[in-house]
Amino acid sequence: MKRLVGALSVIVAGMALFTAVQARRIAPRTSVSADAPLDSAMLPDATEPLVPQISAGEGGLVNVRLSKSTPPSRDLPEILRRLSDGEAGTYIREIFLQRADNNARWPDRQLEPLRVWVQPQSTLPDFQPSFPELVRQAFDRWTRAGVPVAFTFVVDSARADIPVVWVDRFDMPITGRTRWTRDQYWWIVGASIELALHHQSGAPLDAEAIRAIALHEVGHVIGLDHTMDERSIMAARVRVSDLSPLDEHTAQLVYSIPPGSVAKP
Ligand SMILES: [Zn+2]
Repeated sequence: MKRLVGALSVIVAGMALFTAVQARRIAPRTSVSADAPLDSAMLPDATEPLVPQISAGEGGLVNVRLSKSTPPSRDLPEILRRLSDGEAGTYIREIFLQRADNNARWPDRQLEPLRVWVQPQSTLPDFQPSFPELVRQAFDRWTRAGVPVAFTFVVDSARADIPVVWVDRFDMPITGRTRWTRDQYWWIVGASIELALHHQSGAPLDAEAIRAIALHEVGHVIGLDHTMDERSIMAARVRVSDLSPLDEHTAQLVYSIPPGSVAKP
């Protein structure tokens, strides 16, 4: 907790908050991109000094933290070859446009799954006991799509890599919000999700909407960003209830190359 408070003050001091903010279209959906107030419950567990930076074109503000993680092995000609071979049928170029030609991803985590804590209960109105399971299924759906990241669901929020919490509604026309942190290599090193139970208008979100919103937010967690393709779950205004082939192929391509710049020399 002390660490959390310490990290919070670092953030408050110089803050650049990060965020992938989105609007859903399972309701009044409007695409929104905005800074978010820091909720201490969502603060990544910063064991390294936080180095707030804002980079234009990252699809919102992403928190950057120096880490001691292993630098990726990068062979730029090979990366560019894989992209040109694989980019048909994906929206990977739309993602790169939103983050200045950089690929962001987790290291492979098949053998050491990321720990996810989904808030199991909420006293907020219109929370349904079935919702947490829908969220867990959303994480597993992306693993099944070929992303080499597995998830395990923990009961202790303090031990989670990725906390997921319920909020009543946002004060803007969005129904979910993902914040993520990357390191200097563009490895994603932390993420958190907030899911609303109501539209901004107060109308409750049903199970189908919660499932779609969760799929979309987990897409952000694994490193995806928005696409103009409305058949895809990563459309800023979500109109579908499952991943599209474009979603799957894009995620696979993101994980077929290391993190970092994909700019041509
Ligand atoms: Zn989004």
